[in-house]
Amino acid sequence: MNKHIDVVVVGAGPVGLLTAIELTLGGVRVLVLERLAAASMVTKALGIGPLGSEALQRRGMAAAIAAAEERTFAAMKKSTEQNGPDARGKGSKFSGHFAGLSLIRKDAQKEPERRAHPVDQHAVEAMLADRARALGVEVHRECDVTGFVQQDDGVDVKWVSPTGDGRIRCAYLVGCDGGRSSIRKMAGFDFPGTAPSMTMYNAVTEIDHPERLLPSGWRRTSGGVFSYGFLPGRLVMLDFSGPPSDREAPVTREEIEAVLRRISGTDIRVKSLESASRWTDNTRLVDTYRQGRVLLAGDAAHIHSPFGGQGLSLGLVDAANLGWKLAAVVRGEMPESLLDTYTAERHPVAEAVLANTLAQVAIMRPDSQAGAMRDLVAKLMQFDDVNRFIGGMMSGLSTPYDLGSEMDDVGRLIGDRPISQGSHSDGGGDVSLYDVMQDGMGVLLDASIDGEASKLVAAASQRIRCVAVDTGPSMLIRPDACIAWAGEENSTDGLEEALRRWFTTEAR
Ligand SMILES: Cc1cc2nc3c(=O)[nH]c(=O)nc-3n(C[C@H](O)[C@H](O)[C@H](O)COP(=O)(O)OP(=O)(O)OC[C@H]3O[C@@H](n4cnc5c(N)ncnc54)[C@H](O)[C@@H]3O)c2cc1C
Repeated sequence: MNKHIDVVVVGAGPVGLLTAIELTLGGVRVLVLERLAAASMVTKALGIGPLGSEALQRRGMAAAIAAAEERTFAAMKKSTEQNGPDARGKGSKFSGHFAGLSLIRKDAQKEPERRAHPVDQHAVEAMLADRARALGVEVHRECDVTGFVQQDDGVDVKWVSPTGDGRIRCAYLVGCDGGRSSIRKMAGFDFPGTAPSMTMYNAVTEIDHPERLLPSGWRRTSGGVFSYGFLPGRLVMLDFSGPPSDREAPVTREEIEAVLRRISGTDIRVKSLESASRWTDNTRLVDTYRQGRVLLAGDAAHIHSPFGGQGLSLGLVDAANLGWKLAAVVRGEMPESLLDTYTAERHPVAEAVLANTLAQVAIMRPDSQAGAMRDLVAKLMQFDDVNRFIGGMMSGLSTPYDLGSEMDDVGRLIGDRPISQGSHSDGGGDVSLYDVMQDGMGVLLDASIDGEASKLVAAASQRIRCVAVDTGPSMLIRPDACIAWAGEENSTDGLEEALRRWFTTEAR
């Protein structure tokens, strides 16, 4: 292929697609190479955490999220109607859980309006594919990347495809190729962690006596954990008897039936299986997200058990964090060292997620010691402070980036909010912050006297939208919604330094 491409993204899963969208908005030429002919239909994420949803809402997908959420609610309603009014368990209300303890209370959270959305991964991938298409992102399917060589000035990438093998030179390669990432392996990234100890099943089934598995919600037994019927036919099981002996073997109806009978302790038959997959608690994290011109994002960089539904969000926020930075480096506006902040910011976040998933596995086990610890955690969650701590940990909202500032806001990802635009803004009237962020630019919310902050920003960068606001503090917001600077009172102290750090080499 002879065309000029700045960045090759490997994998058109959710993380690869959002990375490509971010890079395209940053003015960079991207090529996405995907092994599969069509999007995978394997059942994975059933919901998306607040920070992942927000990353999509900032890029034109708010309406698609709302529509997909409505479809999920309709399916849940149908399931309740099918199973009867008493079938809905205590934990079936969508408000997040820790280790299957559906006790995270909205009223205890610091920002309850920033919530998870029950939108499944197929819907997320479909809306990302639509958005990528609308932006003209090139996605080449049936292209299996088989190797690459890093040179001083670029990366030579090669792939095999039924329509002919290909190779291309690009400036950077981003591996968004999932938990078994070949980019991670070929580049020689270390991937330390803990080996799998259990097997999890996700299936859509037809059961002969579904009423025997109700009410829905997480049910812990002496054999493991299961949850049935929160969506029509949907079954999740945690089998703690060990990891799968052959993880490649297809999941059969017989296997699902045997595990279900053992875990539920119920005399039951699985009449048919629409789909089924198995997963483990293999828990690993790369020690760096970048080696020279090769970067990783999403499951390629971190794997863990799916408890609490955190992986998709984690990967989407990786993409949001990396995309604008890599675009700025490719445009030549920022030094390569900006990319080091990607690992510095995202590695601790992933580390915290991995740790909480390990803790969840520990207290879901069927033994009495785990049960006692679990009961203790459930009692502790009655305290508002503990509830808020666990809720903030599971949503990721309480884990800011350490940007070295004493201001509490700095390093946090800002949620959407109405903003009143004043005299020295782009326009007038009330808009939402995320509306202003749709094109991938940074934003200055300027509450300074005479628009002093806007003048400094205009002199430093063309890639920041200045919006005058009636009330402070003034804030400099990066394209990934991270608050890079907040002014005290009407002061602009520290703003120029933040601009140099994140947006421009000009004043270095
Ligand atoms: C059972 C289960 C339930 C989950 N539930 C939740 C949940 O409720 N909420 C949540 O937030 N997360 C959840 N997750 C996690 C979430 O599904 C993953 O974190 C997410 O899929 C990661 O996206 P990704 O784009 O990084 O990787 P993937 O989705 O794995 O995409 C990687 C892509 O790369 C392609 N690829 C691989 N190798 C190559 C190659 N050599 N060349 C070209 N293409 C290649 C693959 O075909 C694939 O399309 C769950 C996961 C599982 C397994």
